[in-house]
Amino acid sequence: SSAVTSSTKIVLNLESLGSLPADEAGPLARYASTIQAQRHDYNGKVLSIRAEDLKSLAIIYDMSPDELTTRLIEWGVLSPGMESVVGFGGG
Ligand code: C2E
Ligand code: C2E
Ligand code: C2E
Repeated sequence: SSAVTSSTKIVLNLESLGSLPADEAGPLARYASTIQAQRHDYNGKVLSIRAEDLKSLAIIYDMSPDELTTRLIEWGVLSPGMESVVGFGGG
């Protein structure tokens, strides 16, 4: 089962996201931009997204949600503290 539980709050660091190479981070950046536009939420340094959106993003990146979470932490896109919240495929 996925270690990303319904109680896991996914908070993207938009400043880190904006500084990543577009070829890797492009799909994620476009997804985040779409959510910002839908909410009219343009001025934040971070963006809270739905757990369901992480599953959609994992499909886009052809990874499991846990693998994508690990990648987002490596990229510095998930704010500090997510390592302790999100497991790595164990549970
Ligand atoms: P919607 O899904 O019909 O949600 C309508 C409104 O309900 C949202 O307006 C927001 O005020 C509230 N809402 C729904 N779910 C949540 C939630 O988990 N937390 C909070 N705090 N509020 C919630 P809003 O924000 O203006 O969004 C408008 C529409 O944009 C949403 O309609 C949805 O279709 C889309 N959207 C916005 N943010 C996201 C997102 O993070 N993921 C996805 N998949 N769609 C989003
Ligand atoms: P929190 O969820 O820990 O968020 C802390 C701060 O991170 C927020 O302060 C805001 O500056 C930023 N932040 C988090 N997610 C987003 C995002 O998706 N967009 C933007 N632009 N900024 C974000 P803020 O706004 O003063 O909110 C303080 C606390 O109030 C939040 O702590 C949360 O506990 C509550 N809160 C604010 N808005 C909502 C909401 O829509 N739904 C729920 N359930 N709580 C909210
Ligand atoms: P979640 O769906 O995983 O959403 C996590 C966080 O993403 C929300 O925390 C909120 O900060 C942000 N978010 C998600 N969707 C929207 C949206 O449409 N508009 C805005 N402005 N922000 C959004 P939050 O608000 O503390 O909600 C925690 C959990 O409570 C959500 O997790 C969801 O499971 C549930 N929830 C909250 N509001 C609604 C709602 O209106 N409809 C439904 N179906 N579930 C909701």
